[in-house]
Amino acid sequence: MTNKNLVLVINSGSSSVKFSLFDTRQRTPLASGLADRLGTKEAYLKWNISRAHSFESPLTKTSHLSAIKTILAGLKNAALLDDGLMGIGHRVVHGGELFNESAIINKKTYKGIEQCAPLAPLHNPANLVGIDTLSDLFPNTPQVAVFDTAFHQTLPKHAYLYALPYNLYTDYSIRRYGFHGTSHDYVATQAVQQLQLAPNDHAIICAHLGNGCSAAAIKDGESIDTTMGFTPLEGLCMGTRSGDIDPSILQFMCKKLNKTIDEVTNILNTSSGLLGLSQTSNDMRNLTTAAQKGDEQAQLAIDVFCYKLAKHIAALCVPLGKLDALIFTGGIGENAANIRAQVCRQLAILNIYLDEDHNNQHGQGSNGLISQTNTTAVAVIPTDEEWHIAQATEQRINQNTSS
Ligand code: ADP
Repeated sequence: MTNKNLVLVINSGSSSVKFSLFDTRQRTPLASGLADRLGTKEAYLKWNISRAHSFESPLTKTSHLSAIKTILAGLKNAALLDDGLMGIGHRVVHGGELFNESAIINKKTYKGIEQCAPLAPLHNPANLVGIDTLSDLFPNTPQVAVFDTAFHQTLPKHAYLYALPYNLYTDYSIRRYGFHGTSHDYVATQAVQQLQLAPNDHAIICAHLGNGCSAAAIKDGESIDTTMGFTPLEGLCMGTRSGDIDPSILQFMCKKLNKTIDEVTNILNTSSGLLGLSQTSNDMRNLTTAAQKGDEQAQLAIDVFCYKLAKHIAALCVPLGKLDALIFTGGIGENAANIRAQVCRQLAILNIYLDEDHNNQHGQGSNGLISQTNTTAVAVIPTDEEWHIAQATEQRINQNTSS
C-alpha cells in the first residue's frame, strides 16, 4: 500500500543533496537533512528527525548515488518509508521558457530539463543526477520537477528582454528569467492570506534575502518583474555576488588583472557582494557584529547592501503602480531587524515606516507585521521552499491522477 500523503523532496546540487520528508497534512517535515561536500574526503551527512534529534556522520562513499542510498536507508531504519511514498518532488533550477509550472517527470520533461542545461550548466545536470538516481530506486513512484524560474514566466516581454540585438534572444534564449520562484510564490501566497489582501487585486514586493538575494514585484498572484536575470548574478548586492555592475567592467578587469573572462566572472560570483566589500565575511551576522565594534569596512558593505535593495524596491513599484505590502524573507530578511530598519528608513517615499518594537520582534506577535498603523504594510514572512515543493508535488500528482 502507498501512503497517500508522504512526499520526499530532493534538492540535488553539484556537491550536495538536501532532502525533506513530509506528510503533506503537516508543515513540519518528518525528517530532513543534507549530504554535503560530495565527491571529497570531507563528505558528511547531517540528519534531523522530527526536530527531536539531529546528528552528523561522515560519508565513506561520496557519490550522489551512495549519499541518496544512505539517506533512504536511514529513512527506512526510522520506519518512515514503511507505507511507501506518494511522490518525489525535485527542485530544478532552470526551466527556461519551456516550463511555467511544475511538471510530472516523464521522457518529455526530462528532455526539457536537459535542453535548459546550457542556461544553468552547474545546476540542471546536478538536478538530473538526483532525478536519475531516485527514478532508478523508485521506478513506480511519480516524480515531479518544481522549477526555480517557473513563477517568473509571467513577466511581460518588455520586462524580460535586455536591450541587446533581438536575435540574441531568439537564437540563444538570452533574456531575464528570474530565480527564487518557489520562495517568492510561497511567501506572496502566505502574505495574501496573512494580511487579508484581495486575492485578485494586490501589489506586493517580496525581498528574499539569504546568501542569494532577489526581490520580485507580484501583482494579483503573478510575478511581473524581478531583480535576478539571465543568471542569479543580476540585481541586488548578495553574500558573494556583485549584483548589477556596468558590463564594461568585465573587459576592464580582464585587462587590468590579466585574467580570463571565466576567472573574472568567478570573482563576480564568489568574492564580491558583502564578502568583497567587507573583505572579511559574506555572513550578515558577522558583519553586523563587526560593524557594531567599529569595523568601517563591514559597515560600508551593509550600507551598499541596504541602499541597493531600497533602490530596487522603489524601482519595482513602477510596474506595480501601487504597493500594498513589502515582505521580507530569507535568513537576513527574517532575522536581521537592523537591516530591515536601514532599508525601510530609505523608503519613506513609499509611506513605509516601521514600528520599532514589532520590527525587533521580527513581527512575532503582530501577525508578521512590522509597520506602523496607517502606513504601507511591511511584514516578515518566513519562507519554506521545501514545503512549497512538497505541496506542488502533491498538487501535480493529484491533477495527473484525476485527468
Ligand atoms: P541560503 O540562501 O543559503 O538559504 P539563508 O536564507 O539561510 O541562506 O540566509 C543566510 C544569511 O542569513 C546569512 O547572511 C546569515 O548571516 C543571515 N542570517 C541568518 N540569521 C541571522 C540573524 N539572526 N541575524 C542576521 N543575519 C542572519
